[in-house]
Amino acid sequence: MKILVLNSGSSSLKYQLLDMDSTTVLTTGLVERIGESIGAVRHKRFPGSPKEESFSYEMPIKDHAFGLTKVMDLIVAKDTGVLENISDVDAIGHRVVQGGDLFSQPMLVDDSVVEGIRKLIPLGPLHNPGHLAGIETARKLLPGVPNVVVFDTAFHQTMAPEAYRYAIPKEYYTELKIRRYGFHGTSHGYVAKQCAKLLGKPFSETSCITVHLGNGCSMDAVKNGKCIDTSMGLTPLGGLVMGTRCGDIDPAVIAFLASNKGLTAEEIDTILNKQSGLKGLCGYNDMRDIHARVSEGDADAELALKVFCRRVTQFIGQDLAVLGGCDAICFTAGIGENDAVVRQLACATLAPLGAVIDSDKNMHAPRGQAVEISAAGSPIKIFIIPTNEELEIATETLEVLRNQ
Ligand code: ADP
Repeated sequence: MKILVLNSGSSSLKYQLLDMDSTTVLTTGLVERIGESIGAVRHKRFPGSPKEESFSYEMPIKDHAFGLTKVMDLIVAKDTGVLENISDVDAIGHRVVQGGDLFSQPMLVDDSVVEGIRKLIPLGPLHNPGHLAGIETARKLLPGVPNVVVFDTAFHQTMAPEAYRYAIPKEYYTELKIRRYGFHGTSHGYVAKQCAKLLGKPFSETSCITVHLGNGCSMDAVKNGKCIDTSMGLTPLGGLVMGTRCGDIDPAVIAFLASNKGLTAEEIDTILNKQSGLKGLCGYNDMRDIHARVSEGDADAELALKVFCRRVTQFIGQDLAVLGGCDAICFTAGIGENDAVVRQLACATLAPLGAVIDSDKNMHAPRGQAVEISAAGSPIKIFIIPTNEELEIATETLEVLRNQ
């Protein structure tokens, strides 16, 4: 079975074609700057591991249909492709960020599912319109190929109201559906399942904390295979400190900025999403740059690192308390998988709570592999587990098709 995974944004289209019989990636790539005067297509094919060939093109890409047509051409062309015919694609799995409380499972796309995603645009204004463009284009260009949508929010739909409701007037929930939804659910679900495998336990008996630290950062508390709490909220702005997003702050800061700086709601939203987090604290949003600045004695960079790690520790503590203990803490994504210093700082005070990090294992952890970094005998294991959202989307797409 060949599954094409699409992550379609307002001006971009990321894709990955997977052979699910051998669980290998055949091609991957990105169409960028759709609708601008000059766009770009970056395409990689893997004609035989570990061989990899990269191709790059610049051209105007007027819309998603043009972009996807180009991708389909690249997938079958002799010098760039991996398939004889585009009809060899068995199904398409689409990432959708906001599924609201309408979707708690991946769904086979039909008109009513498309309508549901459209209805959720007010809750996902930055993402859902781009996803819809990708879904509608795929349905048109590959008629007869089933499309499945996999929601970033779905894994969190098992949360109880006491976890997802905010303490604001009830009508804002009933009328506007303002509540905690949580994001990165595909990653959290994948990592939690991998954690169960590492522990040798059924997923339904596995309790863990999944710590996704990438450009965006979030954390899930998973009890017996079900998410019971998550750090992000109505939007991906809440919770942990991130590259450019502030995470949790006193909500009064917003009114304070509006009245003291005369900023509009939209301007404040941009500041909190794009100019805050690590970048706001020290001017850099990439953790690698921050470490380089720290080693040069930059006090702002050092503070940014400390604020980031302290928040991770706080949320682990909060999740541990809500879970009443757990089997494992799992670090994943760009920072979680690669940054030993962040993991060390985040776990430094957790030993009395049962999670004892082994500094040596942590510092020398091999890259790109699932490994344990807790000390022998630590009641709570600490793992690094590389995430793979595309594989999870492809796996869920297959499952939906098999259950039809
Ligand atoms: P995205 O949320 O875009 O999927 P990733 O999971 O790829 O993000 O994470 C990207 C972030 O990971 C970068 O901004 C960078 O801060 C961090 N990162 C990547 N490699 C390293 C590394 N070797 N050490 C520290 N941080 C890293």
